[in-house]
Amino acid sequence: MSSEHAENTGPEHTDSVAAEPAGTTPDPTPDAGEEQEDARDAVAEGTDAADGTSADRIWDVVVVGAGPAGASAAYAAAVAGRRVLLLEKAELPRYKTCGGGIIGPSRDALPPGFELPLLDRVHAVTFSMDGRFARTRRSRRMLFGLVNRPEFDAQLVEHAQKAGAELRTGVAVTRVEQHGPGVPDRRTVAVVLADGERVLARAVVGADGSAGRIGAHVGVKLGQVDLGLESEIPVPPSVAEDWKGRVLIDWGPMPGSYGWVFPKGDTLTVGVISARGEGAATKRYLEDFVARLGLAGFEPTISSGHLTRCRTDDSPLSRGRVLVCGDAAGLLEPWTREGISYALRSGRLAGEWAVRVAEAHDAVDARRQALNYAFAIKAGLGVEMAVGRRMLAVFERRPGLLHAVITGVRPAWKAFTDITRGSATLGGMVRSNGLARRALELLDRRMDTSAGHGPAGRGVPPRAQDGTERSGDDGSRAKGQDGGVTGSTGSAGTPGDTGTTGNA
Ligand SMILES: Cc1cc2nc3c(=O)[nH]c(=O)nc-3n(C[C@H](O)[C@H](O)[C@H](O)COP(=O)(O)OP(=O)(O)OC[C@H]3O[C@@H](n4cnc5c(N)ncnc54)[C@H](O)[C@@H]3O)c2cc1C
Repeated sequence: MSSEHAENTGPEHTDSVAAEPAGTTPDPTPDAGEEQEDARDAVAEGTDAADGTSADRIWDVVVVGAGPAGASAAYAAAVAGRRVLLLEKAELPRYKTCGGGIIGPSRDALPPGFELPLLDRVHAVTFSMDGRFARTRRSRRMLFGLVNRPEFDAQLVEHAQKAGAELRTGVAVTRVEQHGPGVPDRRTVAVVLADGERVLARAVVGADGSAGRIGAHVGVKLGQVDLGLESEIPVPPSVAEDWKGRVLIDWGPMPGSYGWVFPKGDTLTVGVISARGEGAATKRYLEDFVARLGLAGFEPTISSGHLTRCRTDDSPLSRGRVLVCGDAAGLLEPWTREGISYALRSGRLAGEWAVRVAEAHDAVDARRQALNYAFAIKAGLGVEMAVGRRMLAVFERRPGLLHAVITGVRPAWKAFTDITRGSATLGGMVRSNGLARRALELLDRRMDTSAGHGPAGRGVPPRAQDGTERSGDDGSRAKGQDGGVTGSTGSAGTPGDTGTTGNA
């Protein structure tokens, strides 16, 4: 993709050249005839006030959801000179349950000129096992950064706007309609808003998060669902100083669970994540975790929960002229549940390929471009996810082994630092390290994670067609800011900075 910002005058601007998605031969630039055809289509479909269609314009690309995936997609399509509309149901900046950890691959996927609004730079990690065996490892060089999501996401959206994307906030998309009785033009998709307004596009990118409508439309299949609970805890300067530059990662009591403390100036983001279906145990883990750290006396400003979802290997990434990316596509690192880099990277690819889908003259060509998008995702993030699933399977069975290795074996700590900084990937390491590869192959034979389904004990609950949760002991809390995890009490117990070792 071009790294230059196109001087785009907004949605009416049509004469720029499309950026070439990575690894492809560009189709010829749409000629004047095609542009006229576009204009004729718009007029032919007309503005039909009766059915709420605002067809005075047909957008090249409509992006649903203005998180990192959506902002990234909107940026990529807009910088290619296309008419891009970004639809977001919330008003920005909006809160998002997230640790805000920005690892190297996230940093590398940011648009040019983007300055990370870092609240802290991590140079040390304390690892513990359910509060015990705490050990801190340090690094002279920064491992990763920490941001507040509202600020970070809003800044990404601003970059997309500067590239020419138009933003509409406070508009919830209820469904999309592809070619059919309601959408006679084969090259057009209708995006239907909550008030009934219909917005028309040549291509749609679904980036509406883990409970989004567009993922349900595309038929995204999920192999792993987890519940994350988090509290934003303001602390006095003395406590903040103790955490500055250091995070805590605690391997939790339930298989595959872990907790974290991410310092952000005068506030600590404290959270836990575990397989869905253990809502009460996950809540108890967070309460115990907070109490052990001596933070129970501080009132959180926000306590919230959110589901994370990972796709299966065979899950679709498109349907017709609609592509999905980020959480909406179930693109997330299965072991750590790191998703910002997945959202930024898949969002950029979706934006680039949506440009090509928008240019497609018929369904066959649109399908070809959508398959190219799927191929790009599977070749990159798909490979990383497969390794992540295998790591999660190991972690679920042998958390103690993992703790011992990462805190006691220098090459393992080095690998951790390389991955968080972005100078290596887990997939690349497994490919190039014969021992690691053989060990994982042995484990693969013992637990079937190869089909893209999560490790044992991670059943996926049914998902309604509209993308909402049907039921579940924690389904309701996962929808929003449930205050149910505040106010716990207990004895203070901060994992000590024992065993400080190593520099990377
Ligand atoms: C507890 C927890 C901690 C995490 N910590 C980290 C971390 O430290 N680092 C990391 O990399 N990842 C982390 N993640 C994962 C990360 O938060 C997500 O993977 C990431 O936010 C995905 O970005 P996205 O753009 O795909 O979706 P989102 O950020 O969820 O954005 C989706 C957007 O779509 C909007 N939307 C939804 N429905 C509609 C609709 N119908 N119409 C219009 N707009 C709509 C939403 O309002 C939202 O703004 C964490 C997740 C959890 C649950």
